[in-house]
Amino acid sequence: MGLLFRKWLDIPVFVLANVVVDIEVLVIVLFGLGPPVHRYCHTLLVGTAVGALWGIAAYPLRHFFKRLMHLFNLPYETSFRKLVLSGILGVWLHILIDGAYHYDVKVLWPFRAARLWLAIHRLLDKGLIEDICVSFFLAAILIYAVVLASSKKRNTNKKFKRSGELG
Ligand SMILES: [Zn+2]
Repeated sequence: MGLLFRKWLDIPVFVLANVVVDIEVLVIVLFGLGPPVHRYCHTLLVGTAVGALWGIAAYPLRHFFKRLMHLFNLPYETSFRKLVLSGILGVWLHILIDGAYHYDVKVLWPFRAARLWLAIHRLLDKGLIEDICVSFFLAAILIYAVVLASSKKRNTNKKFKRSGELG
């Protein structure tokens, strides 16, 4: 999704938002705080704040991200708005997937829409979610290959144009 919507999304921030939000689980497990392991950060309400803060915190890292993206031969242009939006959307996507996969995620907290969420939970069994995730990963590899091929073609065309101008 990051690759597809890279015009509006900051790929590193969008992807790493999924790691940032799981620091909650890591802390709960490391300190033996017991179940549930998914608490406030795994709700859309608090998750929004987590994503926005991550986007803000990522602002000084943008030069590092640019170098990182160049390693993958991907162009990188970002803005403060893009960073914050990517942080929030990355966390939201993570919470929705976790919410369908794990029984203890209270996506809509503090609203008591548990019944609605339970229905979604029953509809999407774990195997199906795993299959969807694997398909998205395979699709990402395909999209990446297409993006690389098209940027290579664009660069070659530019070189031709430039040498034509010079010659
Ligand atoms: Zn999680």
